[in-house]
Amino acid sequence: MTADWAEVDRYLVDTLVGDQDSGVLEANAAAGLPAIDVSPPQGKFLSLLAMSIRARRALEIGTLGGYSTIALARAVGKEGQVVTFEYEPEHARVARENLDRAGVGERVEIRVGAALDNLPVLAQEHPEPFDLVFIDADKVNNSNYVRWALRLTRPGSVIIVDNVVRDGAVADADSTDPAARASRDVIDLFAAEPRLDATVLQTVGGKGWDGFAYAVVLGDN
Ligand code: SAM
Repeated sequence: MTADWAEVDRYLVDTLVGDQDSGVLEANAAAGLPAIDVSPPQGKFLSLLAMSIRARRALEIGTLGGYSTIALARAVGKEGQVVTFEYEPEHARVARENLDRAGVGERVEIRVGAALDNLPVLAQEHPEPFDLVFIDADKVNNSNYVRWALRLTRPGSVIIVDNVVRDGAVADADSTDPAARASRDVIDLFAAEPRLDATVLQTVGGKGWDGFAYAVVLGDN
């Protein structure tokens, strides 16, 4: 018998990934937040990726209850910082509680409001470049978020855009689904933008068939 994707995810969580979340998913459910966090293996991947590039500063667009934020915050370490944008005040409130309970609250700043309003404010503060940007909010703005990420990073920084495969709809040039069209737009942007080199990895798992774009900000060489 062949196991299904969700069963493989459960096996991987039991054997390799472990409990990453300090009760976040339960707290999110209790507060009525939608269960649209990254899966545990994906959260672990984000954390390992951030550790691999020795990220000290991470920017996230789309906090929800902070599940992926905690993965990033653990990876950047005690001296690191995560800035995360969240539109819904209630999501931000739950995330703040979750982050504090996970013991990483001091290294995370949650900025509440529309990310496209808050990104210019952040840029005006001339922050140190971010080493990693994780984009996981309103999909129709993915290309705008990548353009802002380019302004806020440095050569060698990594930009991840989640959920770009959308059950395969990304391959349908005639799709009328706004999120699928936004996926095609952001992939076109990656293809055309000389300051970025990118790929997309398809994923299957407990959350179905999707995938994420992985881009590296290029230097002069
Ligand atoms: N990254 C989270 C995780 O894996 O735990 C999941 C984020 S969830 C998929 C998307 C979040 O983006 C939601 O909480 C939603 O309220 C937020 N969001 C939607 N539109 C936004 C916007 N314009 N600016 C900032 N956040 C937004």
